[in-house]
Amino acid sequence: MTAAHALPPPRLSVPAAQPSLARLVGIGKTYGTGENAVDALKNATLDIRPGEVMMIEGPSGSGKTTLISILGLLLTPTTGEVWIEGKNVAGLGERELPGLRARNFGFVFQGFNLFPALTALENVAMAIQMKDPRARDPKGEARRLLEIVGLGPRVHHLPADLSGGQKQRVAIARALGGNPPILVGDEPTAALDTKTALSVMELLRELASTAGRAVVVVTHDPRLERFADRVVRVEDGLIQSIDSAPSAARSTP
Ligand code: ADP
Ligand code: MG
Repeated sequence: MTAAHALPPPRLSVPAAQPSLARLVGIGKTYGTGENAVDALKNATLDIRPGEVMMIEGPSGSGKTTLISILGLLLTPTTGEVWIEGKNVAGLGERELPGLRARNFGFVFQGFNLFPALTALENVAMAIQMKDPRARDPKGEARRLLEIVGLGPRVHHLPADLSGGQKQRVAIARALGGNPPILVGDEPTAALDTKTALSVMELLRELASTAGRAVVVVTHDPRLERFADRVVRVEDGLIQSIDSAPSAARSTP
């Protein structure tokens, strides 16, 4: 098989107005082999556009985490292409992936995953340093990012002294380290009460709208759809639909 050197045309119902930040083409993922094989994802094709909030919805076990993990280069697909920075990176190994991952993605998870012994500022500064060991002023940059997510007054708090919503804001600031074009979140609001979940989504919405950054969020919660430009429904390993959400009018000229 020869790899094309240009992005393949998207097979989508709605044409992309701008070049994609990332594109998945015909992605399949099978866990295990033989009798134990599970086809977690089948022939998934998806593009991620600058400035959009994409929500991925579906029942438990439908393949959402598999899909977003392959997009974020955390998991290698069994078949298909992953286009990032103009090339198909699906076949690359662990030598090349960490750099691509760090340049292109920020990750936010349900459980926040903060270091309990580090302050908010230190958590974010450490992530900045890990992404770029030559970063000039990791603490200054961490403070700037914590201010963006509304945690300016609490930069020296330990995670234990922050609410769930505040911890998730620290995690979002951390994900913003290095200014990656795509934020991905696997159920980032699942551990939060409704009001807090809505305010975290509002922040993610703002981060997408202001910087041309894409936000891709897996969620169980249809109430969050109002923050989305597009909603992807996954069922039994298949992308059933990719719909423009009613709220998309806001970000479309
Ligand atoms: P979701 O996030 O929608 O709940 P997942 O992507 O986690 O779905 O899982 C999709 C399917 O793949 C499920 O049937 C799940 O049990 C299976 N699966 C996920 N991870 C693994 C793994 N590491 N090994 C084997 N099966 C897995
Ligand atoms: Mg999951």
